[in-house]
Amino acid sequence: MNRNLTFTMIKPTAFKNNNTGGILKMINDAGFVIKAMKLTRLSPEFAGDFYAVHKERPFYGALVDFMSSGPIIAALLEKDNAVDDYRTLIGATNPENAVKGTIRKMYATNLQQNAVHGSDSDENANIEADFFFSKTERY
Ligand code: GDP
Repeated sequence: MNRNLTFTMIKPTAFKNNNTGGILKMINDAGFVIKAMKLTRLSPEFAGDFYAVHKERPFYGALVDFMSSGPIIAALLEKDNAVDDYRTLIGATNPENAVKGTIRKMYATNLQQNAVHGSDSDENANIEADFFFSKTERY
């Protein structure tokens, strides 16, 4: 196993509902080490760029509106097999399909407001981290 990185966001509804502590505890308990973290709010332009891969999808506009609707927590996480293990920890995109004990099962409101983001590849983890963190903000 290679120690590698994944990128996450605690999405606006989960932050607003004060679920940040519970989610970070699950992340730490699963063995992830926080390498960078910030509380911030995405502008619609920034959210649009971040989710540009979904530009043609019908939910793109709603997703951009939602992700810029309030503060989020962005974090860079390190662990062996970080990308796959984090996708397992957060559960399916649609919380109705998420396995019991996953972050989305516990904290998601619905398919769009599904508590957290998680990178889907090493390459995207690096791209996504670069949206938020300079070299001096990584430890
Ligand atoms: P993820 O990698 O599990 O986050 O899923 P995707 O990359 O496919 O989608 C990105 C985000 O768009 C999801 O986390 C949801 O917040 C949202 N999303 C995905 N599919 C839908 C959908 O069918 N409807 C709506 N409203 N939002 C969606």
